[in-house]
Amino acid sequence: MTQHKSYIVGNWKMNGTQADIAILKAIADAAGSDSAVDVGICPPSTLIAAFAQAAGGIGIGAQDCHAKASGAHTGCLSATMIKEAGASFSIVGHSERRADQGESDADVAAKAGALHEAGMGAILCVGETLEERDSGNAIAIVTGQLAASLPASTSGDWLSVAYEPVWAIGTGRVPVADDIAAMHAALRATLTDRLGAAGAGVRILYGGSVNPGNAVEILAIPDVGGALVGGASLKAETFLPIIQAAP
Ligand code: PEP
Repeated sequence: MTQHKSYIVGNWKMNGTQADIAILKAIADAAGSDSAVDVGICPPSTLIAAFAQAAGGIGIGAQDCHAKASGAHTGCLSATMIKEAGASFSIVGHSERRADQGESDADVAAKAGALHEAGMGAILCVGETLEERDSGNAIAIVTGQLAASLPASTSGDWLSVAYEPVWAIGTGRVPVADDIAAMHAALRATLTDRLGAAGAGVRILYGGSVNPGNAVEILAIPDVGGALVGGASLKAETFLPIIQAAP
């Protein structure tokens, strides 16, 4: 399988109201018809339907979904519910959810499996804490996290992986290029071990303090297939230059 074009995705986290559709429209007007790069935005669930209506060529995703199709899970949304609202994919296993909601690798695998079953895409997040990086075992820890977070039976087409060092998220700190390259190579090996040839086609995004000033360098690192962008995706002025930086 061949590598896809670059994939640049904004994670709005718990930010955004209806008034911010103007920001989506500005991004869609400038980048929605750029066939050289796939662009996605994951607004809060309350905005998925409105954003999907205004998205143009931008893919709209959710930030999470429940592993079950329905039932007694107050406050949760299933894959089919976010799909019906207009999402074509979802982030799963973001480190903020792993930390704040106690999501385990098994939970993340079940959520990714639910998305696959619903015919949706998934961006599966993995990444080490600062203590884990300092221990010298980051690669073993993060590849182990990925292996345990992949659903049991899968092909590569619907799946992307995001390597997001926890210590780089929202901090302005970014690993050196060699460390990103080494982690992406190790994640690629885990994917091809598990998925065979299909593992070669899974895009591995980098996430953690990507901004207009560092995007060109990060996106040029071998096997970086795109970026998952938090803070800098909230404004067209900072998100568009990152999209334009994609090779
Ligand atoms: C994220 O939370 O996925 C992220 C990458 O955030 P930021 O770009 O703000 O570091």
